[in-house]
Amino acid sequence: MTIIEPAEVPRLADNVEQAAPGELAKLLEFRPGQSFAAVDAESTPGFSGDKADGRAAHDLDNAVLKDLQERLFANTKAGGLKRAFVLVLQGRDSSGKGGIVRHVAGAVSPHGVVTAAFGVPTEEEAAHHFLWRIYRKLPRFGTIAVFDRSHYEDILVPRVRGLTPPRVWQERYDVINEFEEGLAESGVDVIKVMLTISPEKQAERLRDRIVRIDKQWKHSRGDLEDRRDWDEYTEAFQDLLERTSTESAPWYVVPADRKWYSRWAVVRLLIDRLQDLDLQWPRGTFDPEVELALLEKSDPRRR
Ligand code: ADP
Repeated sequence: MTIIEPAEVPRLADNVEQAAPGELAKLLEFRPGQSFAAVDAESTPGFSGDKADGRAAHDLDNAVLKDLQERLFANTKAGGLKRAFVLVLQGRDSSGKGGIVRHVAGAVSPHGVVTAAFGVPTEEEAAHHFLWRIYRKLPRFGTIAVFDRSHYEDILVPRVRGLTPPRVWQERYDVINEFEEGLAESGVDVIKVMLTISPEKQAERLRDRIVRIDKQWKHSRGDLEDRRDWDEYTEAFQDLLERTSTESAPWYVVPADRKWYSRWAVVRLLIDRLQDLDLQWPRGTFDPEVELALLEKSDPRRR
């Protein structure tokens, strides 16, 4: 007979220190006046270990996130809770947005998460208010939506590319703040992550997309143009953070040169928000004794 051992639960080395989710949120939250450009993209705030430690931490945290999302869903189904979360990922090309989407989506139940990527607006999208395509992807209560880019592109791209008169994108700061405040009031929290990557790391990743067969499908000339406009984007990011970091929806600036770190940090930021809800398993509104007796009676072999 083969004895099946349970999978070994990964443990973090004793000397690795990691900030609790709430502490990490405070470490990464954008503070008015803070310089976006000064955030060291290679740093790992709140985590003292290396890549291998980071990977071990993922497994542990992913299990926590999975459990919390299930509790969220259970309370929505059986407790009438009306809460949902939108994780917004912004950042330059190759800052790892797509990888984080896959990481978070892979951690929770497929029923508990929806993902959406917002590229250049389609003809139909462009014929609508810029928030139209965002509304259509808002999560149902009990679930998490992960956005690869978002409504913030509608400030960044027109600004840097000069696609509209400045007035058009300038008005959007307030429109977005009101939109997100309204969402929070109706139970949908927006968690906004601005990934920051160094020019050197970006060059390395974009180069891979040109020379590696398995990555060539990701290469786009447009990414090189955006890279050339590095400083214009930096300014645009700075203003965006200043103008749209609000009490109900603050921005978190996450160093992203080390993918294992940004993934760990984003999952912890999500865990922090979910833990705030203090979600208990909803108790059944039945008498377990009665139900157990009925279960016994329902034994098909007793018919
Ligand atoms: P990615 O580069 O993230 O893998 P895509 O190439 O499909 O994905 O789409 C991203 C491109 O779409 C980026 O260049 C981005 O700036 C552009 N984009 C996204 N939203 C908008 C928008 N609202 N207006 C103009 N361009 C946008």
